[in-house]
Amino acid sequence: MNKEIVCIVCPRGCNLIIDEKMEVTGNACPRGKAYAISELTHPVRMITSSVRVTNRLETLASVKTSDSIPKDKIMEVMDIINSLSVEAPTHINQIVKKNVLGLGVDILITKKID
Ligand code: SF4
Repeated sequence: MNKEIVCIVCPRGCNLIIDEKMEVTGNACPRGKAYAISELTHPVRMITSSVRVTNRLETLASVKTSDSIPKDKIMEVMDIINSLSVEAPTHINQIVKKNVLGLGVDILITKKID
């Protein structure tokens, strides 16, 4: 049975169809095929969120994962992100948490706060 998913790699949002032989159609570029196969075999996501800044009133610093993580680890990683805080000043790509859950992925600041 064919599986249908929407490619989220770029804003074009191609409708991808994957058949039983893992043949992908509907993709306008090769990245769609790679995304479809990854999504069916080992789905991953980047996470963006924010952490508290302890020495600034009601201030959050945006963060992201340095790479994609397995989709089934998102909630665990979000729990860790929600427990994190930083002190200003912050700089972009500052590591807030290294090697989160041993996944080889860091949590990085994406907002400069003076
Ligand atoms: S298949 Fe290519 S063009 Fe289509 S949404 Fe994915 S990345 Fe964009």
